[in-house]
Amino acid sequence: LEIARQLAQDDTHTDVESLYRGVRERVPTISLDTVYRTVAALAELGLVDRVNATPGPTRYDANLDRHHHFVCTRCGLIHDVYSDRLDAIAPPEETSALGTVESIKVQLRGVCRECKGKEKASG
Ligand SMILES: [Zn+2]
Ligand SMILES: [Zn+2]
Repeated sequence: LEIARQLAQDDTHTDVESLYRGVRERVPTISLDTVYRTVAALAELGLVDRVNATPGPTRYDANLDRHHHFVCTRCGLIHDVYSDRLDAIAPPEETSALGTVESIKVQLRGVCRECKGKEKASG
């Protein structure tokens, strides 16, 4: 339950190791292995989403509302994006040869404000 709670509070699309560090503050006896297995089980049940937007460890998303992602290619930050326009995208005809599209999740990639700011600061 603590793990699920921590995941739900986290809007940064955390990975298991960071989640573990957060949960451990409240449940000092918990093991990393337990967190791994719990998150995998939650993903299996469809209660969290796996996000493979950046290289490195799999990130998890407890936000199951329909949304899209803005991924910063510098710092790896993943922001949720709500957009009726993106939601309205229809699958292109070419995909019917591959199968049935059930959902579309758009991944917008770019440089976040913070990284842009740093860029300016350093010239
Ligand atoms: Zn960034
Ligand atoms: Zn998300």
